[in-house]
Amino acid sequence: MAVSLQTLIDRSIRNMGSGIHPVVKETAIEVIKRSYKEGIYVQMTSGYRSFAEQNKLYAKGRTAPGEIVTNARAGQSNHNYGLAVDYVLLSSDGKTTIWTVNTNWKRVAQIAKALGFAWGGDWNSFKDYPHLEMTGGLSLSQLQAGKRPVLVSKVNNKTPAVPKSTKKQSSKKSSSSGGRAIVRTIQSTLNKRYKLNIKVDGYQGPETYKALLKGFQTELNKQFHAGLVVDGEWGPKTRAAVVNVRKGAKGSITWILQALLICKGYDVNGLDSIFGHGLEKAVRAFQKANGLAVDGVAGRVTWTRLFA
Ligand SMILES: [Zn+2]
Repeated sequence: MAVSLQTLIDRSIRNMGSGIHPVVKETAIEVIKRSYKEGIYVQMTSGYRSFAEQNKLYAKGRTAPGEIVTNARAGQSNHNYGLAVDYVLLSSDGKTTIWTVNTNWKRVAQIAKALGFAWGGDWNSFKDYPHLEMTGGLSLSQLQAGKRPVLVSKVNNKTPAVPKSTKKQSSKKSSSSGGRAIVRTIQSTLNKRYKLNIKVDGYQGPETYKALLKGFQTELNKQFHAGLVVDGEWGPKTRAAVVNVRKGAKGSITWILQALLICKGYDVNGLDSIFGHGLEKAVRAFQKANGLAVDGVAGRVTWTRLFA
């Protein structure tokens, strides 16, 4: 059964905290409602953070255990002024978070922007895909100096139309996308193994897929003398050079297949470079979901669908 709109709103209100600016709160709820109407289940994971909470978060991965999750100390985040929220997609039953920056994720950002939010995914330096904020034109130093914005609600603004290509896109996968930690592992392995320099942020966007394809091209060159240009583009030469990968295989190409499927939300039962039963099951599920012949072997058509 699909999660109810009210459940998503209730959870989000709780997560945004009482210190959230009323206009930010109202607008965030409107984002949830409009997304829900389009079959996109979104929830706010955080909103207002006190200075103490921010410092605690800052300590994570530095003086406290865990991974680094923020570069902002107390007072350095718009969350500290109740002007920012973070969102995540949910599976239709509302039980699993989906951290994939896919068409639905971007659609939520588009809806939010039409309602006056700025989106962290548009930032140039560090992309913060879950982040939405409304600062009313005030800078962080003005906020730190005690100024507060006058925000005007835009909940009556219309949502822009869904771009045609995304309209029929539905979430066929029910599983989460492996979580951010495993995606970080994939990104840092790609950097090390193929001498790349992609962001290790746990979000599988176009940059990650391009790096996976570069890795794939590199392996085809190394192992099969394919003579490909390593450009991360799915062209006819790469397509022609593809090899079949099936149960029993092991090595870097198998690893790339596992990483791709993990990024697309499939459970491959471990990123271990060994083509076992779990990976075969995932390949079959992917083939089925994409209307391909279901044989559990990653051949030309399957690789093309994974990369192109
Ligand atoms: Zn944020």
